[in-house]
Amino acid sequence: MQQDTLAEDPTKAPAATGSPEAQLAALVTCNSDAVVSLDVQGVITSWNPAAERLFGYGADEAVGQDIGLLSRPSDRDRIGTALRRLAEGATFADQPVVRWDRDGNEVPVSLSVFPLQDTDGTALGYGAVLRDMTERRRTVSALEAAKAAAEVASNEKSVFLSRMSHELRTPLNVVLGFAQVLQLDPLEAEQAEAVDHILKAGRHLLNLIDEVLNISRVESGRLALSMEPVSVSEVAAEVIDLVRPLARARGISTLADTAGCACHVHADRQRLKQVLLNLLSNGVKYNREGGTLRIACVEHAGRLRILVTDSGAGIPVDGLERLFQPFDRLGAEFTGVEGTGLGLSLSRRLAEAMGGALGVESRLNHGSTFWVELAAAQPALPREEDQPGRGPESGARRRRRVLYIEDNLANFAVVERVFARRPHVEVLPALQGRLGLELARQHRPDLILLDLHLPDMPGAEVLQALKGDGATAHIPVVVASADATPGQVSRILAAGAAQYLTKPLDIHELLGVIDGLDDTGESLS
Ligand code: ADP
Repeated sequence: MQQDTLAEDPTKAPAATGSPEAQLAALVTCNSDAVVSLDVQGVITSWNPAAERLFGYGADEAVGQDIGLLSRPSDRDRIGTALRRLAEGATFADQPVVRWDRDGNEVPVSLSVFPLQDTDGTALGYGAVLRDMTERRRTVSALEAAKAAAEVASNEKSVFLSRMSHELRTPLNVVLGFAQVLQLDPLEAEQAEAVDHILKAGRHLLNLIDEVLNISRVESGRLALSMEPVSVSEVAAEVIDLVRPLARARGISTLADTAGCACHVHADRQRLKQVLLNLLSNGVKYNREGGTLRIACVEHAGRLRILVTDSGAGIPVDGLERLFQPFDRLGAEFTGVEGTGLGLSLSRRLAEAMGGALGVESRLNHGSTFWVELAAAQPALPREEDQPGRGPESGARRRRRVLYIEDNLANFAVVERVFARRPHVEVLPALQGRLGLELARQHRPDLILLDLHLPDMPGAEVLQALKGDGATAHIPVVVASADATPGQVSRILAAGAAQYLTKPLDIHELLGVIDGLDDTGESLS
């Protein structure tokens, strides 16, 4: 065992021998805190070597002086008040105060003062211990500065990532858009294969961008969560419905065993779905052909665990923690199964951001159970939902005019090519926000497709102006933007947008919007 090594005392304190008083005096002398005694008037009566070192006055200078010696003249009133309170029986312990040394420098100290009385209780004065806090204060301010710098850096990182995501998504929009346009025509087998590769790689890149951005958002605490009581059986049924086609394609049978799920958990509904979808799609991807995939719930330590169980190959013990490391795919990258290696790491962070946890139990060659654990919640009171009426308009294809407000010509070219598939649709381009507003007023299009990044004014303002003008307020506005943050989406929808499409645009979604106009008249608005 290591021994403490004691350095020799440079103050050469006297050996503590003799009477108890002499021993106590020795303790005061070698104390590393300043120990000072005062008479009832506040005149210094003793001054130890630590006080000499801390304040720069020798004992011969300090003894006999008023304790105000250590304060600025403006603070001396306060000393009078403190002495009066001490005389009334008050004591002070570990008070952070500032005193002044001989050279006029500030000395932050922690001050304790206690009364000194003789054996019959007559007041003799006060004892004060002043602990030097200079080093502590320096450390605290260094820590605060480091924390502030880290916050600035983290903010800058988030802004950078969000910019980068936008910059990457915009050209990707063009790549994916035109690849989809090519697919709309019959292609030679080789060409079709090439387009397939472009689309696959483009979507993979898109997933990577989204997931990296999501992870960084959760990490920096900038993820806006809307926590509410969420019905587990509802969400479980929804997500299993969503993966069923994927499972069926591999002959995997799905089961929503929701008997134990008849309760609510405290969660962000969308994020919970995202986590469960990720676990379920892994349960399909890493399952065997013809296997099983099941979602169920159990109570666990007063909380609810949602379990996703597959019949895949399972995970070796040394892989159980690596699963949650970003980009670690445990070798799946060599098996042809698509993935980014980010899903589980993001899912765990999301579960934790919702105050929950995510874990796994697995048996090699039998399968794995991934679980999300969340706090149980009371269901919210039922709300009256607005039921938008759908007009019984006939499906006749009348001419439609779409105003597309977008400054990026490449994006514009993609949309134009898509709409070329619908000859009854005429596209009116506007490369700037103000021009868009004018054209909207003049031509009263059936639909406005609005990009949010415009050179002359923010798209959100264009939307506001359109909705605020009686001539255009009724025209449905579909916003298309590369910014897919949930906060942004809900703000734009609340501002009156009929729909929010994220770029890169999904061509079928876009065509769906246009065909929707024919089906339901103006029910988009
Ligand atoms: P991805 O699926 O995109 O590779 P994830 O973060 O979702 O990324 O998963 C990380 C790795 O964990 C996967 O590559 C796979 O090797 C392994 N894994 C995930 N889910 C399962 C599962 N249900 N069964 C077996 N292995 C799994």
